[in-house]
Amino acid sequence: MSLSSGSCGNCYYLGTGEDGLLIDAGVSLRTLKKTLAENSMSADSFSAVLVTHDHLDHIRHLGSFCKRLHKPVYTTDELKAALMRHTFTAPWFGGCSRVLERGVWNGLGFASVRYFVVPHDATQTVGYAIDCQGHRFVIMTDLGRMTDEAVELASSADTVVVESNYDVDMLMGGSYTYELKMRIVQGYGHLSNDECASAIRRFWHPGLRNIFLCHLSENNNTPDLAFRCSSAALEKLGVEKGTVSLRCLPRRTPSPLFVL
Ligand SMILES: [Zn+2]
Ligand SMILES: [Zn+2]
Repeated sequence: MSLSSGSCGNCYYLGTGEDGLLIDAGVSLRTLKKTLAENSMSADSFSAVLVTHDHLDHIRHLGSFCKRLHKPVYTTDELKAALMRHTFTAPWFGGCSRVLERGVWNGLGFASVRYFVVPHDATQTVGYAIDCQGHRFVIMTDLGRMTDEAVELASSADTVVVESNYDVDMLMGGSYTYELKMRIVQGYGHLSNDECASAIRRFWHPGLRNIFLCHLSENNNTPDLAFRCSSAALEKLGVEKGTVSLRCLPRRTPSPLFVL
C-alpha cells in the first residue's frame, strides 16, 4: 500500500498485516496511524522502517516516528551519517538507527532485504529488493537513470514499484527554470515516463505480476500519460493483457491495500 507518493511526501507499507515494513517516512504520524487503521492495521503492523534517501519528501516525519514509535530504522552507513546530522532527524534518530550490509540479503524478521544504490542528487539514494512469503518486491523511487543492478533485481521480482516522474514535453514546455529542468533530466534527477517504459522493457520477465508507477510529478505529468507510456512498452513486448497489472500510485492520497 502507498500512503503517499510524490514530492508532497512518500511512504509505503509492505507486510502481512501482522508484521511489515514501512519504506520512507514522508507522511505524518497522524496520517500513518489513520491510514493503517482504515485498513484494520495499527503501528503494531510493522516492525521496521527502511529509508531510501535523505530528501525531505522521504524523511520529513522520520524524527517523530523515531521519537514516538521507537522502531528500528534501516539505512546504509552513508545515510546513517547524514541522518544523524539532519535537523529533521538528528535528535531522535541515533537510538533507532540500524545499518544494512551492502551486497547481501539482510534478514529482518519476516522479510529479507537487499539494497542497491541508484543515481540521484541526495547524500546517497537506494532502492530495495524485499523477499517476503515467496514474493519478491522491488522499489526504486527517485533515480536519475536505471542501473544494471536495479534491472537485475527487478528481473526476478513479481512486484516492482518504479518512478515515472515526468513527461519530457510537459517538463520542457513548463514553467520550471532552466536549472531545475536540467537538474531533473540529467542522470541524477528523476526518471521520465519514457525512461521508465524502457526500464520495464529491460526487466520484464514472465513472472512479473504487478508494476506500480510512483513519484509522478504534479506539474510535469499526468497519471494518464505515465500509464499509456508504460502500457505501450508492455504491448511492444507482446505481454498478454491481464498477465501484468499496471497502476499509477496516487500522489497525495493513500492507494488501496493491494493483496499480492
Ligand atoms: Zn522524492
Ligand atoms: Zn529525492
